[in-house]
Amino acid sequence: MDRTIHTLKFPLFPRSIPLTIYVSYREGKMFRAGLSAVLWVSALSLVGLAVSADAISERARKLHFSSIVVDTHDDTTQRFLDGKFDLGTRSASGSIDIPRMKEGGLGAIFFSVWIPSRITGPEAVNRALVQIDAVREQVRKHPNDIVLATTAAEIREAREHGKIAALMGVEGGHMINSDLGVLRSYAALGVRYMTLTHTGNTEWADASTDKAAHNGLTDFGKDVVREMNRLGVMVDISHVSDKTFYDALEVSKAPLLASHSSCRAICDAARNMTDQMIKDLAAKGGAIQINYHVGFLSQEFRDAEKANPELNKAINADVMKLCGENEGCQLIEGDRITREYVEQGKLPRVDFTRIIEHIDHAVKVAGIDHVGLGSDFDGANMPYGMEDATKLPKITEALLQKGYSESDVKKILGENTLRVMAEVERVSREMNAGK
Ligand SMILES: [Zn+2]
Repeated sequence: MDRTIHTLKFPLFPRSIPLTIYVSYREGKMFRAGLSAVLWVSALSLVGLAVSADAISERARKLHFSSIVVDTHDDTTQRFLDGKFDLGTRSASGSIDIPRMKEGGLGAIFFSVWIPSRITGPEAVNRALVQIDAVREQVRKHPNDIVLATTAAEIREAREHGKIAALMGVEGGHMINSDLGVLRSYAALGVRYMTLTHTGNTEWADASTDKAAHNGLTDFGKDVVREMNRLGVMVDISHVSDKTFYDALEVSKAPLLASHSSCRAICDAARNMTDQMIKDLAAKGGAIQINYHVGFLSQEFRDAEKANPELNKAINADVMKLCGENEGCQLIEGDRITREYVEQGKLPRVDFTRIIEHIDHAVKVAGIDHVGLGSDFDGANMPYGMEDATKLPKITEALLQKGYSESDVKKILGENTLRVMAEVERVSREMNAGK
C-alpha cells in the first residue's frame, strides 16, 4: 500500500473518461463475453483507429491466458474489513474482484496485510490477525473460483483446477511486535512474504521514507531474516532503506523479493530501487516486481505533486470527509479523487505504458529472469489504461509489440515469481533438515 498520496480506482464508467477508452473497455469486455458481429462493427466504426491502439491481438490474448499471471501486491484486503465487500461480486469501484481477475487472466494474487506503521505492539498483531482471517474467509466463501495457496506448486495446482490462487503478504515488520513467535504464527496461517518495514522504521529495521535509526537491520532484524528463510517466508525489501536492503541481501540465504517497487533511474522515489540495487538483487536470484503507482512510475507526476503540496492536502481532506477512519474507503476514494484532479488538469496524466518502460528498464539492468508484476492495485493511484485487473492483457500485448519473445513475456507475467518462490521453499527445506 502506498497512499502517502492517497489512492483509489475510479468507477468503471466515469463521467469524464474519454470516449476512446470507454468504448475500448466495453469492447474488450464484451468481446470476451461473446460480442455479436453487429455490435463489434458498430464499436469499431465509432472510434476508428483508436480501438487498435488499445486492442489485444489474438497472439497476445492466447499467450496471456495460457500464462500464469502472478501479482505480488494488492491492497484489496482493506475492503474486506467493513463486511460490505464481496470478492465474488463485480464491484463498480477499485481494481480487484473475482470477475475482473478472471476477465484479466490474473492467476495468483498476494493479498496484502497492512496497517499503518504508527500502530505497533499487541494492537498491530491483533489487526494483522483480523486481516489474515478476512482473506481466508473471502477465499472460503468462493471455493469454486479461488483457493488459498502457499507454494509455487500450489499456484500451479490451482491453475490446473481452473482456480485463482490467493496468497498473503504482511506489509510491515511492525506487525510481528518484535516477536519471532508471532512471525511463526503468521507463517502457519499461510503468510508467504513479509515486507521488513512499511513507511516508518520498525524497532529493528530502517525504512526508505523515515530517518535512519538503526543503520539498516539490527541484530534482531538479522534474526528475523534468518527465521523467515527457515520458515519459507519471502523477505520483501519494498519500502526498506537502501542500507536495510543490503543488510538483508547479505544475511538472507534465499533470494529476496521486491514485491512492489519500480526503478529509481526513471522516477526518483526513495521507495524505488537504484540500478545497482536491482543488479545486486538479481545476482542473488531475487526479483523486482514493478509497482503501477503513478507517483513511482512518473517523475513528472512526482514533480507536479511536490510543486503544489496544497493539492495533496486538498485530496486528503476530501478523502477524510468521505471516509473518516475507514482505511479501505480511503484507498479507493483517494485514487478516484486523484483521477478527478488529473481530469481537471491539476496533475499530469500518466499512461500505463510507463509500466512497460519500468519493466523494460529493469530487464535491461537485471536480466529477463528477475522482473515481475506487483501492481499495488487498491492501494495506490493507477495510471490511465491500467485501472483494474481486466486491463492486464495490455501488458502482454505491449511487451510483444516491444519485441519480447513469448517465453520472456511468460517469465515477467509470473514464471520469475514462481521460480523465486520455489527457491525460497528449497532453502527452507534445507534449513529445516539442518543442512
Ligand atoms: Zn506499499
